[in-house]
Amino acid sequence: MTSADAVLAVQDVAVSYGDFPALSSTSFVVQPGELIAVVGPNGAGKSTLFQALAGFIDHKGDVIVHGEHCHHLERQAIAYIPQQSDVDLRFPITVAEVVMAGRRRFHTGRFRPLVADHARVNECLSLVDLNDMNDRSLSTLSGGQVQRVLLARALAQEADILMLDEALSGVDARHTEDLISLFATLCAQGTSILVSTHDLHLVRTHFNRCLALNGRLIGDGAPADELTGTQLERLFSRTTSPEPS
Ligand code: ADP
Repeated sequence: MTSADAVLAVQDVAVSYGDFPALSSTSFVVQPGELIAVVGPNGAGKSTLFQALAGFIDHKGDVIVHGEHCHHLERQAIAYIPQQSDVDLRFPITVAEVVMAGRRRFHTGRFRPLVADHARVNECLSLVDLNDMNDRSLSTLSGGQVQRVLLARALAQEADILMLDEALSGVDARHTEDLISLFATLCAQGTSILVSTHDLHLVRTHFNRCLALNGRLIGDGAPADELTGTQLERLFSRTTSPEPS
């Protein structure tokens, strides 16, 4: 496949918080159906990269979706699933309402869910193993369940690209296997998935490609090549810092 077939082309994306360059110029291409791990130490810019691509924070560079330059307000094809700890659970909202928010992009004007939207919400909840949880308040769920609700919302949004921040942290072995198998199903249907994780064993065993990040893109390739001794030393070295963007 060529970059013309890419679902996502990231070109020279860079992010600064004030004077602090959190992410130097970063470029890569994602093909339909790819499952990609994003690895790097804490503070490497993984969340920053995802939030920039989702259009939540300002950035330099271009984000091209299906060959079209995409303004940050038009990134409905990209869904960002934040870390469990970043979700404000005080907001009184039910599981079904959260997932239904993903259907908004299919309606113009005032959002009145149709029967088909309710059916899709149920289907997405079932895909993440949360059947019959529709009326539960988000605040009563465990961290892992909240993350699966947010994944269900992304599925309801029918996004082409899912970006999951630390989705596999604090998740028990059974749900890790379930998530990995759900990723495989979604990728087989053409969805592209990026997952940031610290679990290098999981990356080596379940991913074909990883992006190694530490303030800038240090490696992009097969885990067997990118997660070797010298590459790992570079990746986790404190001296590898972002360059001014
Ligand atoms: P990671 O997800 O890899 O742990 P982050 O993207 O969260 O890394 O952070 C990258 C760097 O940017 C860190 O040094 C972090 O402290 C800084 N940072 C993140 N968010 C902000 C913010 N809102 N304001 C200022 N600095 C931030």
